[in-house]
Amino acid sequence: AQEKLAESDPTAVALKYVHESKVEGQYCENCMFIQGGEGEAWRPCQIFPGKVVAAKGWCTAWAKKG
Ligand code: SF4
Repeated sequence: AQEKLAESDPTAVALKYVHESKVEGQYCENCMFIQGGEGEAWRPCQIFPGKVVAAKGWCTAWAKKG
């Protein structure tokens, strides 16, 4: 399994990544940068190569899936 992104990871800190989004309607699972793993709790993200992010997470790079 891929390593879960830590909130303390320097890039995560820079992008204010959190495992639980506090922004209504904005979650990793509906962000354009999420990759595969449909329906899974932890999924790859283009912004954090080699790690998986929480489906219910969020960061400042969030952008609506097209
Ligand atoms: Fe989540 Fe940020 Fe990756 Fe979007 S860019 S999936 S909000 S970690």
